[in-house]
Amino acid sequence: MIREIYLDNAATSFPKAEGVSDAMKAYLDTVGVNVGRGSYARCMDSGMAVLSVREAVAAAFGCTDARRVIFTAGCTAALNMAINGFVREGDTVLISSMEHNAVIRPLTARGCRLVRIPSDDDGCMRLDRLNADWDAVKLCVCTHASNVSGTIQSIAPLSENLHAHGIPFVLDAAQSAGHLPIDMEALHLAALCIPAHKGLRGPQGLGLLLLSEAFAASLSPTVFGGTGSVSHSDRMPRFLPDRFEPGTLNLPGVYGLGAAMRAYDPIAVRRHETALTERFLAGLQGVPQLRILGPLEPEKRVGVVSVDFASIDNAEASALLDSEYHILTRCGLHCAPEAHKTLGSYPQGAVRFSFSPATTVDEIDAAIRAVREIAAR
Ligand code: PMP
Repeated sequence: MIREIYLDNAATSFPKAEGVSDAMKAYLDTVGVNVGRGSYARCMDSGMAVLSVREAVAAAFGCTDARRVIFTAGCTAALNMAINGFVREGDTVLISSMEHNAVIRPLTARGCRLVRIPSDDDGCMRLDRLNADWDAVKLCVCTHASNVSGTIQSIAPLSENLHAHGIPFVLDAAQSAGHLPIDMEALHLAALCIPAHKGLRGPQGLGLLLLSEAFAASLSPTVFGGTGSVSHSDRMPRFLPDRFEPGTLNLPGVYGLGAAMRAYDPIAVRRHETALTERFLAGLQGVPQLRILGPLEPEKRVGVVSVDFASIDNAEASALLDSEYHILTRCGLHCAPEAHKTLGSYPQGAVRFSFSPATTVDEIDAAIRAVREIAAR
């Protein structure tokens, strides 16, 4: 069998954390019941198991009340809930110049006025170049780490400014959760949006919306339905998490995430991925006909590196990496055309390599050799 090198972890991580598939199978085979619906013991036990996953997530991300951990269908769903439940048409929303369509599209569909924080050529935000009327800003939504260049944004100074002006801050942690430590309270976040299936190495089809107490109180639900609570009322309950969790949860996913959270160690992951990124960037320096997008300092990124081939079409390069080298990458615009515009790689896009705790030094070296050979064709 051909050994493939999976370097598309920014799309979804593979392999999953140890114990994830076992926990999902165990739920499906031996638990199987809904939560918050029946009063029999197995239902109660399952409810306790789900609560323990909420508690593990809350503890990992500095959320002081596990009831403010909302399970969603993914990071996109979490972002949509935080945006659509808060802004109205015409509201001014501050974003970075590196946003994913999961942020751009809901804000555009809502008819918001978008003000972009300028970036340098590496995609690092330059708050000092922002000329905005802070008092007019209703909300800030910002990606923590770019899914194109891996660029980590300096969100602490942004958060201090937003906090001083009383502006809620929604952080898109799609590419940072699990890769970097994140403390919601320390960053004064109103909402933290996380996919289960990327850096946390849990299952697909599950995401997390972590809310501050104040933001939860001002956020309206955008999905309505049964919660197994206050069933006599035709309104959503006011209490959490029920207010934002109608319908049956993705329970196999929640059990799988429970196992993933037992492996959660962002400091060790960060150390490993930074070493790999450093090696990959060093190996690609000076390759003619190749542009590396984003900062060259490994500590300024997560383990995501995109390159723009000048001698060959990027889609063809990605196809060759697959067919001849068995290296799996993603080409194109990565659902983030604004990031590519900022990085100067629009409309041609780039070929993205993204790492995980399972990625090895040998795999990085194989990728370096392959890129060098393809660029030299
Ligand atoms: N934001 C960013 C920066 C992303 O990279 C992604 C996934 N590509 C998302 C949001 C959406 O995440 P999901 O696909 O899990 O909904």
